Amino acid sequence: MVEIANQIYKNGLTPGKSGNISIKIPCNINYKIVISPSGVSLKNINLENVIVIDNEGNKLEGHGKPSSEMNMHLEIYKKRREVSGIVHTHSPYATGFSFSGEKIPHLEGFGKIIKPYLNEINYATPGSKELAKIASNGLEKEDILILKNHGVLAIGTNIDEAVLLAEFIENSAKTSFIAHSLTHEPIPAHLKHSR
Ligand code: 13P
Ligand code: ZN
Repeated sequence: MVEIANQIYKNGLTPGKSGNISIKIPCNINYKIVISPSGVSLKNINLENVIVIDNEGNKLEGHGKPSSEMNMHLEIYKKRREVSGIVHTHSPYATGFSFSGEKIPHLEGFGKIIKPYLNEINYATPGSKELAKIASNGLEKEDILILKNHGVLAIGTNIDEAVLLAEFIENSAKTSFIAHSLTHEPIPAHLKHSR
């Protein structure tokens, strides 16, 4: 958890104090969640400040407050039983798209492409129950979601998969931005022809 949080920050996916991550740990017939603390840069996550909560959000271990997006993480784990890792980033290219009204295309390189564009949900206040609800609904059939005017959510059967997906999406947004700048086409040509 600590290493992953520090690496995500280093890779530029969560500038400043933005973003949060969590890992689900099976515990008897239930599970616990290790989650990053609120208001702490992922650069500064360490064994002393990570928070452990139960599946209802009650704090079990750690000092400080769990991420303000705790409800969003809890709702996702409830809806997607096979998911064990969640990464929320404010990575600059993907987040830039979320502020622009332009969609990010699904590019080759991370599984089968079923839809031309990534799903995006409407804006809801960060940390709100409304965001928790619409984000978890938006991830019912997807592993990636763009949060309008906010950032990115990636989930996986383990945290490494979620991190790889978040990195891949940031690079997809970057690639699309470069392609658009060079061609002035709204989306990469190969996707345009295949639609
Ligand atoms: P936290 O520090 O509370 O996790 O908030 C960061 C964030 O990105 C909120 O959306
Ligand atoms: Zn955020």
